[in-house]
Amino acid sequence: MSEFIPTSAMVIVAHPDDIEFGCAGTVAHWTRRGCRVVYVLATSGNGGTHDPAYTRESIAVLREQEQTAAAALCGVTEVEYLRHQDGEVIASLTLRKDFIRMIRKHKPQVVITMDPSQLYFGSDYINHPDHRAVGTAALDAIAPVAAMPLMYPELGEAHRVHEVWLVMHPTPDTWVDISDVLDTKLDALRQHKSQVGEDVVKMVAAWAREAGHGLIAAENFKVMKLVAREPAAEPAAQNAPEAPAA
Ligand SMILES: [Zn+2]
Repeated sequence: MSEFIPTSAMVIVAHPDDIEFGCAGTVAHWTRRGCRVVYVLATSGNGGTHDPAYTRESIAVLREQEQTAAAALCGVTEVEYLRHQDGEVIASLTLRKDFIRMIRKHKPQVVITMDPSQLYFGSDYINHPDHRAVGTAALDAIAPVAAMPLMYPELGEAHRVHEVWLVMHPTPDTWVDISDVLDTKLDALRQHKSQVGEDVVKMVAAWAREAGHGLIAAENFKVMKLVAREPAAEPAAQNAPEAPAA
């Protein structure tokens, strides 16, 4: 199956492990085919433990080590830690400017980020407010400001992001075949030893199979094309024409 492979991409999320839950298979798939990917983490998850042995400082150090190891497995060596406070992220102008700076520094063709519109999923999961805040600030950074040269020139040379891929979207329109990198995705998830055990790994593996859309394993996205793809690239897009199976 042919498909769209960006030349460069940036993944903007709230916490260490968000990428491994949502899109690490796609990242591994892309990096193996020559795409340069940069991770941007708004927080280092410095609230993410019930273990009294940790402080906010020491859990952040551990979680950055876990995230950096997970990134390396997926072919990503550039991880930007912005170190906002876990659980306190709001879609502020400060956060938006942080993301503008990152976008202008790394100039990604595609940005993967978190769907900010989802307050809850089904009847048993309330979306983390940090996820929504990061998604809002990322979209606000991408359009229109990052591409506007008169706006915040101190944050770097203006850059236009071509596509936004949203994870955790209720009505995805694009599926990426991660069958050949599912083991890599799960190994990356396992790097977050402070957060996940094998039960969670099994759950995420099941998600990939359920997301399959006819594929053995997949990750899905809502894709926004802010700049049309080159005609030569369009037939390679892996947009699934049919409705999802479930
Ligand atoms: Zn998270």
